Amino acid sequence: MNDFRCRCGALLFRAVAIRDTLEIKCRRCGTVITMRPTEPPPERRERPSGDCSCRSDPN
Ligand SMILES: [Zn+2]
Repeated sequence: MNDFRCRCGALLFRAVAIRDTLEIKCRRCGTVITMRPTEPPPERRERPSGDCSCRSDPN
């Protein structure tokens, strides 16, 4: 669980989920902060180096 704090230091507890973004309004200074929910990191598909088993040449 994350606590959202405004730049003024007030704890932002009022969060309204609007589609994919999160809109939070500070009650102290009235600043509206929009943020995206944490997205899962993109799956990086890297080839394993030096491990090709498709063809083996015993020498
Ligand atoms: Zn604020």
